[in-house]
Amino acid sequence: MELKPEEISSIIKEQIKKYENKLELVDTGTVIQVGDGIARLHGLEGCMAGELIEFPGNVFGMVLNLEEDNVGCVLLGSDKNIKEGDTVKRTGRIVEVPVGNNMVGRVVNALGQPIDGKGSINSDKFRPIERIAPGVITRKSVDEPLQTGIKSIDALFPIGRGQRELIIGDRQTGKTAIAIDAMINQKGQDVICIYVAIGQKRSTVAQIVDVLQRNDAMDYSIVVSATASELAPLQYIAPYAGVAIAEEFMEQGKDVLIIYDALSNHAVAYRAMSLLLRRPPGREAFPGDVFYLHSRLLERAAKLDDKYGGGSITALPIVETLAGDISAYIPTNVISITDGQIFLETDLFFSGQRPAINTGLSVSRVGGAAQIKAIKKVAGNLKLELAQYRELAAFAQFGSELDPETKASLEQGARTMEVLKQPQYSPVSVEHQVIILYAVGKKHLLDIDVDKIELFEKELLDYIDNNYPEIVEDIKNTKDLTDENIQRIEKAIEEFKKNF
Ligand code: ATP
Ligand code: MG
Repeated sequence: MELKPEEISSIIKEQIKKYENKLELVDTGTVIQVGDGIARLHGLEGCMAGELIEFPGNVFGMVLNLEEDNVGCVLLGSDKNIKEGDTVKRTGRIVEVPVGNNMVGRVVNALGQPIDGKGSINSDKFRPIERIAPGVITRKSVDEPLQTGIKSIDALFPIGRGQRELIIGDRQTGKTAIAIDAMINQKGQDVICIYVAIGQKRSTVAQIVDVLQRNDAMDYSIVVSATASELAPLQYIAPYAGVAIAEEFMEQGKDVLIIYDALSNHAVAYRAMSLLLRRPPGREAFPGDVFYLHSRLLERAAKLDDKYGGGSITALPIVETLAGDISAYIPTNVISITDGQIFLETDLFFSGQRPAINTGLSVSRVGGAAQIKAIKKVAGNLKLELAQYRELAAFAQFGSELDPETKASLEQGARTMEVLKQPQYSPVSVEHQVIILYAVGKKHLLDIDVDKIELFEKELLDYIDNNYPEIVEDIKNTKDLTDENIQRIEKAIEEFKKNF
């Protein structure tokens, strides 16, 4: 065999060219203290806030405190096998969750891992859970309604796509029920729903998933769950994970409805972490940055300009109050960040007025711009009427003799309140809302007994659907209440009342 020196030298040259320096530089540090789900680390000079740190045994931690001589981090897994002196590694990444269409229909934990037993999620796209909210240039004002199917909300406190509306009230006043009904009503509306459960019981979350499944709402929904039994850091990141999943859809130009149930639990989890990290406590022992905690989350809800795809994220945060105190720290913070609130009251709830919405303290600051004309026409005077009714009803309790005018107002008010009652899981379409609110507003219900109103409403709407389908069609097409249509409604109500 003959050796060709030029051939050999060319091969060697080639190899030198391809030679790569495989050295990898990893910033490492040591654990100086660990316990209560918190670790203090030494030696991670270049570390970023929010960065993931790898501990031995495949446990990860998230950096929250950057101090002069150490780094404080919370563990996203068990601290059982971590000891002082262990070596830890920087990863250079912050927490990420899988996103995309494969998430739809699934129940995941705060890290985006499936917990519904339906196998792994094949997602090739990940997003960091923290992101700066869209700026003013990319946004547009709210102009499209998000129908909740709840009469009292769609008529009085309408919500637009891209809006943030707080649901606030004491325990067991129907807060979750409103959010779930709003999700169920998005069937066929091309809206993706995300329900983030924070600090709730596992059984409650299981029930909610069951309800969503039975109402076919899981087909377009995602549940992100960090229950009360999970680590505080997981409860802390859950809403950010949820909104990161939502942002992917928003950037595809889709509409998303996201529910945070409940931000009060979120703040409590954050307080626990902050106290363990020895951050200075402030009012109600919450750390100083608890406002930023929720503002940076809720600012990520947006309606994007058409130039940027026109997608939206509508956020319905839920906050639980104690004894109706909406001036406590977390409630006032979240009220000031959102575009309005729906205030639920225990007294109303137990008096049978469900959903127990206090119409005096609730408000929607931007949704009116998105309301369709037809419902604006029938609901325009409703709020004022209800306020007058409440005042008169308080007076009437004294039992003094009432003049006929006052009596008529009371009768009318009682019927309006009755129409606003609605059972769970039975959303009413906006067209039907227009018809029944028109009927009560024009005093067509005055001669019906208050306890028959629910039946009257149901049968009237059935009657109209069967005999006058053009009424609903017309509202659907014009989004308005035309004079011609009003005549048809009047005629239908008159005919129906003859046989009721
Ligand atoms: P928690 O503070 O425990 O989270 P919550 O404020 O979320 O409670 P829900 O769990 O939604 O309240 O509702 C409390 C109870 O009231 C439930 O049993 C629910 O079925 C009932 N409920 C809620 N809304 C209605 C309604 N519109 N009509 C009848 N019952 C209702
Ligand atoms: Mg609830």
